[in-house]
Amino acid sequence: TKLTDIMNERMALSFEVFPPKTEKGMENLPGTIEHLCKYQPDYISCTYGAGGGNVGANREVCQMIKNAGTTPVTHFTVIKNTKEGMKDQLQQYLNEGVDHVLALRGDIPLGETTTCGDFQYATDLVKFIRDEFGDKFEIAVAGSPEGHIACRSLESDISVLKQKQDNGADYIMTQLCWDMEQFKYWLDAIYSAGVTMPVDVGVMPILDQAATINMALSRNGCVMDHELCKIISQNWLFPNPFAAKDAEGKPFDMFYDDKIKRFREAGIEYTIKQIDTYRSLGVNGIHLYALNKWKDVSEIIDRAGLKTLI
Ligand code: FAD
Repeated sequence: TKLTDIMNERMALSFEVFPPKTEKGMENLPGTIEHLCKYQPDYISCTYGAGGGNVGANREVCQMIKNAGTTPVTHFTVIKNTKEGMKDQLQQYLNEGVDHVLALRGDIPLGETTTCGDFQYATDLVKFIRDEFGDKFEIAVAGSPEGHIACRSLESDISVLKQKQDNGADYIMTQLCWDMEQFKYWLDAIYSAGVTMPVDVGVMPILDQAATINMALSRNGCVMDHELCKIISQNWLFPNPFAAKDAEGKPFDMFYDDKIKRFREAGIEYTIKQIDTYRSLGVNGIHLYALNKWKDVSEIIDRAGLKTLI
């Protein structure tokens, strides 16, 4: 299946899962994938731990996706990887029928200044895959609507994206972005810079306060717009030093359970509004970071009316 052909014809729907760390999680994942497949996604992608620590689990998950009748896309990073090692691993994916890859740099390991591998950038990986494997892989690349957290400027980050296209990349999967004005600005800017690759938009469901704040602030430096800040603020969970204390002297919140529920409901509404905006902009795909949570994802798809579109 050529995903770019699908995306050029209609809006694609896809999910992202990750290899669970526990055996129980791995046992449950085929069921999760089966539920997600009821929506007939165009593909399901699986994350790859930077450094390749979980490559075995990643390959297992790709087979689960295949067995469920959907196209697997494996993420792949250059962190701590040698050219020879990357060639072997990529060949192994091909041997196992996985011929779609999201070519990434990965995050620089803590305390290091380089990738500790043969390549420093995703652009090099895209070129390497094309040089070594021709057209055997369909290649996706990351795009950051707010600019990658370490980029010199948005303009330089956009020229990197164009370079990825020139090196042979097929389509873009975007980093999460809650700032819709910025997203529109970026979309216009990449098209003006000559990017013609389809844009498959990554959507991070807002379900949990700590995970949302962690994603935005500790990982990606993303802007949280006023509406999202209000949702967080109105359901604030973190220990408040002025709150009543329980018997052990810890801050105590009698509305804890209500706030969890209210946050999830407001977060789902917010996520649906974002999907509506992306659709109105005519993006080529919606890629839901499913977080291995099929129930929440199903609720979002049903309420957003995404399923009826495909
Ligand atoms: P690059 O495109 O190489 O860019 C990295 C930085 O270097 C940017 O600031 C860019 O502007 C700059 N740059 C790039 N090329 C050049 C150049 N030639 N000269 C100078 N500067 C340059 N990480 C994982 O470890 N595993 C995953 O499974 C994973 N999945 C992801 C899925 C999606 C959809 C996205 C958007 C990201 C994912 N990531 C994952 C995170 C990603 O690895 C990090 O964001 C990483 O820091 C950058 O990766 P990149 O491919 O965008 O890097």
